[in-house]
Amino acid sequence: PVILEVSDLNKIYEASNGPVMALRGANLTVRKGEFICLLGASGCGKSTLLRIVAGFETATEGSVAVYGCKVDGPGPDRGMVFQDYALFPWLTVQENIGFGPSHRRIAPKEVAKLTEKFMAMVGLTDFADRYPHQLSGGMKQRVAIARVLANDADILLMDEPFGALDALTRSTLQEELIELWRTTRLTVIFVTHSVEEAVLLADRVVMMTAGPGRIDCEVDIDLPRP
Ligand code: ADP
Ligand code: ADP
Repeated sequence: PVILEVSDLNKIYEASNGPVMALRGANLTVRKGEFICLLGASGCGKSTLLRIVAGFETATEGSVAVYGCKVDGPGPDRGMVFQDYALFPWLTVQENIGFGPSHRRIAPKEVAKLTEKFMAMVGLTDFADRYPHQLSGGMKQRVAIARVLANDADILLMDEPFGALDALTRSTLQEELIELWRTTRLTVIFVTHSVEEAVLLADRVVMMTAGPGRIDCEVDIDLPRP
């Protein structure tokens, strides 16, 4: 089944030096459980597309639908992981992961259970009471991923999530993410400018190409998984 439908998105930014066309006619259909890598050169509009899907930004034209329903703002069905982690610095690992559930109508006991579960899933149980500044980059990104999962998101949106990590940590997190995707069958849309990373992670690669004044989603490549 189709979980996400992006239709004819246009995005024009009004910058100080005039309008910037960041997206022109971007289309993307995502089926439930797919791991899609959105690949393209810097500036071609990948982050813009992801932010519009997340609902952090509005499109100039076009629409985004989740399970056939148009969305025009953020929702717990879509969770974002950023390159710079974006954790709450004043909350511990445990509190960061439990943030979503604790703000919904869920019994505290249930929140604790959810938090435990996802903290364990990313291997951070022993670090429950640490604050973000007391964690390595890899750990911070595990917290960010667990926070999205604990919020019960169907779609995990990742914007170059491993770009700030050293090569060894990056490759560890890549392996963990593949494993997580295999076990949860979450739908993942992963933005990267690295062909290597896209081919390693994706079961479908979507190429975005940019020319002067136009940006499209163009090529769809289905990859056989080893
Ligand atoms: P990518 O993620 O592929 O690097 P972006 O989506 O960040 O591309 O940017 C696409 C284009 O839109 C670029 O030309 C960028 O400079 C421009 N852009 C992105 N965000 C803004 C903004 N907030 N204001 C003005 N221009 C922007
Ligand atoms: P990335 O390459 O990871 O997409 P960027 O350096 O393009 O990151 O963008 C970083 C931030 O700056 C984004 O939030 C984007 O919206 C903003 N931005 C990018 N290009 C412009 C621009 N030309 N004018 C204003 N803001 C921009």
